[in-house]
Amino acid sequence: MHLKWKVFIQFIIFAAVVLACLWIFQIVLLDSFYKQIKIYEIQKAAETIEHNIDDEQLEDLAIRIAREGNMCAAVYDQSFEQKLSIDILPDCVIHKLPAFIIEEIYARTLESGGEHMEIFSREAFFDRNYDEDDFRKGAPGRDGGMGASLIYSRIVKTADGGECLVLLNSTISPVNATVNTLRTQLIIITAIMILLAFVLALVISKRIAKPIVKINESAKMLAQGDYEADFSVNGKEFLEIKELSNTLDHASKELSKVENLRRELIANVSHDLRTPLTLIKGYGEMMRDIPGENTAENIQIIIDETSRLSELVNDVLDISKLQSGEQVFNVERFCLTDMIEEILGRYGKLVSRDGYSIDFERTENVYVDADETRMAQVVYNLVNNAINYSGKDKRVRIVQSVKNDTVCVSVIDSGEGIAESDLPYIWDRYYKVDKTHKRAHIGTGLGLSIVKHIFEQHGARYGVTSEVGKGSTFWFELKAKETSEIK
Ligand code: ADP
Repeated sequence: MHLKWKVFIQFIIFAAVVLACLWIFQIVLLDSFYKQIKIYEIQKAAETIEHNIDDEQLEDLAIRIAREGNMCAAVYDQSFEQKLSIDILPDCVIHKLPAFIIEEIYARTLESGGEHMEIFSREAFFDRNYDEDDFRKGAPGRDGGMGASLIYSRIVKTADGGECLVLLNSTISPVNATVNTLRTQLIIITAIMILLAFVLALVISKRIAKPIVKINESAKMLAQGDYEADFSVNGKEFLEIKELSNTLDHASKELSKVENLRRELIANVSHDLRTPLTLIKGYGEMMRDIPGENTAENIQIIIDETSRLSELVNDVLDISKLQSGEQVFNVERFCLTDMIEEILGRYGKLVSRDGYSIDFERTENVYVDADETRMAQVVYNLVNNAINYSGKDKRVRIVQSVKNDTVCVSVIDSGEGIAESDLPYIWDRYYKVDKTHKRAHIGTGLGLSIVKHIFEQHGARYGVTSEVGKGSTFWFELKAKETSEIK
């Protein structure tokens, strides 16, 4: 069901419940509520009089009670002599009762255990001129028309052991007229409520449903690959809608970034694949067709280009494995110092002919718990970059220092450095500061991304400081262990 209809129906249900409550309490139950309250008031008044029956101030008290409760009161002693009379209601019944009826009431009160209550129709009472039968029959429900009198009697004991009859009379006005007024009012209120529910449902659905519908449509566009889908909506006063729109906006931006990187990678990788392949093919054909070209030098070129190719393929495979979480790390204790030395040893032979110098500064041998192959890959990548981007002095320094129980390895070059604006991005996949392809610096832009993944999987701290024209320092830290023994 549409959100806006759902909201509307909820509002209508709410309004219906509120109105039903109003109808029940104000119209159906009004009469009995009103009578209950009157009965309660009259009982309370009788109780107060009973408690103060011997009090000298009884009369004052009774006047006050009678005025407050809008009722008449009369107290008779055992010989039915009137002891007290407060006559404030113009159409009071108890002050017009003949003595024999007072006696009757006394008898009836005694019969019902000292307390008695009757509702008399005033109409019947006055019109029939004290018709005794009718008066006695004067049962509840005869309060139509002119309303009725509620007569309450109670037998109370006095301090001298005697008894008194307390008679109270209050008027019960007919509620029919009130009910009619209320009914008309309620009909108007019902109409207003329905109209209001309709307007509110419209406003709310506009505020909530509209942005959600729009976001939904944009999300569908996004799902179909339209990364330009617009998630900006009105209705941002709702935190959730604002967050949803921002999240989707962010997601679409990220997706479009990934999409761009993917396109760039395909362009780069195909370029990078094609270049060595062209060279390999060219040299191969040359060696086949031109006599005397079958030299060791040419074969070396073919070998070099082949290794470039496999390096590229390996990098692409590595990054996808690392990212899919498929890669399982094999953590073991090994000597980090030895490992770095071994890598540098292999490099030494390769770079010395090109005039590079690689220095390794260290104090003691340090052991770490990590995946040795992956760590070797890290060192290899960092040293490789340092060589590729080193400066004119062709010097690369690797410094291993130990502080507390942490070993820090820094790979330092004095090359071109990295601009501050590029620094945060160099760890991203496919990111290359210099997008032009220089043969000498050929790279996939994946190396540092692989390195970052490996560091993160090992929980290692890592970073880079760099200054354009002065060089860069790539560093990482691992927990250092003193021995090869695992305790
Ligand atoms: P690449 O294969 O292109 O070297 P990397 O992920 O290893 O990819 O590095 C990303 C980018 O970071 C490089 O293209 C380069 O611009 C920059 N970079 C990495 N190491 C260095 C360094 N030591 N000095 C200067 N720039 C560097």
